[in-house]
Amino acid sequence: MDRIKVKPEKNNFRFLDEYRDRNLAKGLIRSIRQRAGRLNRSVTFMEVCGTHTTALFRHGIRSLLPDNVKIVSGPGCPVCVTSTEDIDLALTAARLPRTIVTSFGDMLRVPGSRGSLKALRSEGCDIRVVYSPLEAIELAVNNHAKRVVHLAVGFETTAPATAAVINRAREKGLDNFSVLCSHKLIPPALKGLAPESRIDGFMLPGHVSSIIGIRPYMFLARECGKSGVIAGFEAVDILQAIDRLLELTEKKSPAVENLYHRCVPDEGNPAARELLKQVFIQKDAKWRGFGHIPKSGLSLRPGLKRFDASRGIEMEPSAVAHRSCRCGEVLRGLISPPECKLFGNICVPETAVGPCMVSSEGACAAYYRYGSDEWKRR
Ligand code: SF4
Repeated sequence: MDRIKVKPEKNNFRFLDEYRDRNLAKGLIRSIRQRAGRLNRSVTFMEVCGTHTTALFRHGIRSLLPDNVKIVSGPGCPVCVTSTEDIDLALTAARLPRTIVTSFGDMLRVPGSRGSLKALRSEGCDIRVVYSPLEAIELAVNNHAKRVVHLAVGFETTAPATAAVINRAREKGLDNFSVLCSHKLIPPALKGLAPESRIDGFMLPGHVSSIIGIRPYMFLARECGKSGVIAGFEAVDILQAIDRLLELTEKKSPAVENLYHRCVPDEGNPAARELLKQVFIQKDAKWRGFGHIPKSGLSLRPGLKRFDASRGIEMEPSAVAHRSCRCGEVLRGLISPPECKLFGNICVPETAVGPCMVSSEGACAAYYRYGSDEWKRR
């Protein structure tokens, strides 16, 4: 079938109907089935974005795919990949006198090895949910006698907002604002996953790509012989991505392509990247489930260390989080959530044991909310 011709457009809403078009979707499903039928083996594609995890379920796409096409979730949920040590650091900061800790809502429920921010808040610590780091800096401006520590998480998409508030704090000469920087970068994590033979290709994250563009993924095809397509989040976007990944697999012609031109320019967002460069340098970072990944995190440049809240916080080594939680394997696409024995009984969104059940973009939460009833019948 003809591919949808997408041009970069200012008004993206014009195209939404097209990307929910039932006939286009049917044609793509037919094409996927035909291509899968011609392949004499199973293929596994990884979607590297929490929003894709949810969108696949919401559009019912998993149930439409042929048996030999498997989609596994990857490390694209920022809440899920934040390490136990980073949560423990935030817990330690929150216990300091005259300190307000801020973060995004989901982070409060993520368990560290000694509890969660939410539990600590119920003990009286001053922990607040913010929707933007700008709110954290306002708190610092309005509470001179207190120290405000913002737990900054997220990928290349949210890191520019943190960079902007650090610049603002510097301009205002604020000495009571700092961040625990747990930002992570997607391409270094893919570098660790791509050589694995069980993954045939990647559905690349639309949001992150809108900042970094297509170039940082080129190593997938060049060095690892794997395909990757940047995809949007509507049903047709996702089907088109799967269809193209199958086509590239069938032709044995690995390539990295941008199928989400209406939101992702090939060059990404140079202004946002410049902001990141002004404020951060790359550092090795610990990811839940992966361990340390070289150059996969961000830390403040040496001249900005006064805004680094981790300086001067003494912390005991983190204990092991819940031993039966298999979030690490879920995040590497090694198992699907129902294979964890806690899934759906001890671990449900209200009493989440691991971060993949906490975040609405976590794979365990998505399977629990939208997945088939199979696991409920076990
Ligand atoms: S179901 Fe719960 S315990 Fe199991 S891997 Fe997912 S979050 Fe961890």
